[in-house]
Amino acid sequence: MKNKNENSMDKIVSLCKRRGFIFPSSEIYGGFSAVYDYGPYGVELTNNIKKEWWKTMVQMREDIVGLDSAIFMNPKIWEASGHTSGFSDPLIECKKCHSRSRVDHLLEDVGVFADEKMSEEEIQEIFSENREKIKCPKCGQSDFSEARKFNLLVQANLGNFTSDWTKDPVYLRGETCQGIYVNYKNILDSTRVKIPFGIAQIGKAFRNEITARQFVFRTREFEQMEMQYFTSPEKEMEEYEKLRKERLKYYLDLGIKKENLKWHKHENLVFYAKEAYDIEYKYPFGFKELEGVHARGDYDLSQHGKFSGKDLSYLDQTTKEKYIPHIIESSVGVGRTMLAVLCDGYTEEKIGEESRTVLKISKKLSPIKIAVFPLLKNKDELVKKAKEIFNRLKISYICEFDASGNIGKRYRRQDEIGTPHCITVDFDSLEKNDVTVRDRDTMKQKRIKIEDLEDYFKDSF
Ligand code: ATP
Repeated sequence: MKNKNENSMDKIVSLCKRRGFIFPSSEIYGGFSAVYDYGPYGVELTNNIKKEWWKTMVQMREDIVGLDSAIFMNPKIWEASGHTSGFSDPLIECKKCHSRSRVDHLLEDVGVFADEKMSEEEIQEIFSENREKIKCPKCGQSDFSEARKFNLLVQANLGNFTSDWTKDPVYLRGETCQGIYVNYKNILDSTRVKIPFGIAQIGKAFRNEITARQFVFRTREFEQMEMQYFTSPEKEMEEYEKLRKERLKYYLDLGIKKENLKWHKHENLVFYAKEAYDIEYKYPFGFKELEGVHARGDYDLSQHGKFSGKDLSYLDQTTKEKYIPHIIESSVGVGRTMLAVLCDGYTEEKIGEESRTVLKISKKLSPIKIAVFPLLKNKDELVKKAKEIFNRLKISYICEFDASGNIGKRYRRQDEIGTPHCITVDFDSLEKNDVTVRDRDTMKQKRIKIEDLEDYFKDSF
């Protein structure tokens, strides 16, 4: 039997499919593991998530600028960053059902925390010590292969026309921030920014993730929203504390419940990191990383300076001090944000004898802002008036016109996709030139004059 949390995850997955938020990739061909497609409401929701992030990170900040760097880069970048040698997860295979799992996750499930810097031998040793307690998540057996480290970078043959390109591969980027680091000097030289300043970027990243569970929480193709902030060595920790506060506030402002968010401090820091915290969200499968907020010291620019042979130091014009900038970062996945938003807003309510499912998400994020219905679909005057209203409002908001099924069904459909307002044109509308506007959360209906609708919705979203 599934526990309550797993059930609620099933409900989210089912809602996403049923209502056109998220589809498994290549479904008619049997799917493609750990890759998902975003449907009509999913793309609106992710666009809104990205818009809010960009507004907070770029539009509202004088000290942060945007970037859109390419997915493919010179492969030396991944050497400099340590990804070709060190970007790996420990993998183990169940000898019974042949499913693969991440050793650190299996250990975590039994309360043992492995250090990401550990060698294959060290991981194997801890695994052996705890073997008795560990079961395969798929078949429940305890017969495993040896642990081995598996590199997560995805390889490709772009620009390589030899017969064996695997000897000299290029990579689909494993994270978007490397594109930021290698453009730091370009941005410094071409814009008005001075340290401290940040560069923000939204884009796809690819990782050969070993396990393909947990829906869009962990996928092999995903989108990241990253902001890298360049500071002087002295100011790094002060800026880091500011960034941590801002990032938590951002989620609260998005309407995520405070009790579902918490900080997780990394105990085993990589050697160059000054401090690292994750913002965790309470997903149905437990508190897990939503965003990383890390103080990275001067590691990134020092490495790229070394490997490229270019001087990436910064000269402070007032103090005449020269240094390699230190970096603090905020890094979050669009899919993980969307899953947190959906889990947080998903509500089942009883209203009298009836029950409804409603997505109580921030209006800013709702895929559809306003739905417009004629009360009856076969009354031309109602349809005409409703269409007129729809055509007017769609200029400013993403709206949906719906004349199918009875009105109760239409409300329920909009509730399930989180539409904040439904407008119904009824027979009184023809006489009095007003409509009912229904609120998603309270289900209260107000009559509003048609000519006042724009005013009524002003500043609503
Ligand atoms: P995890 O420990 O869960 O594998 P990570 O620490 O490797 O994550 P980072 O490299 O810090 O993740 O990436 C920054 C952010 O990008 C994460 O906080 C997460 O929101 C997102 N992210 C990372 N990997 C994935 C993935 N495979 N699928 C979806 N989002 C991801």
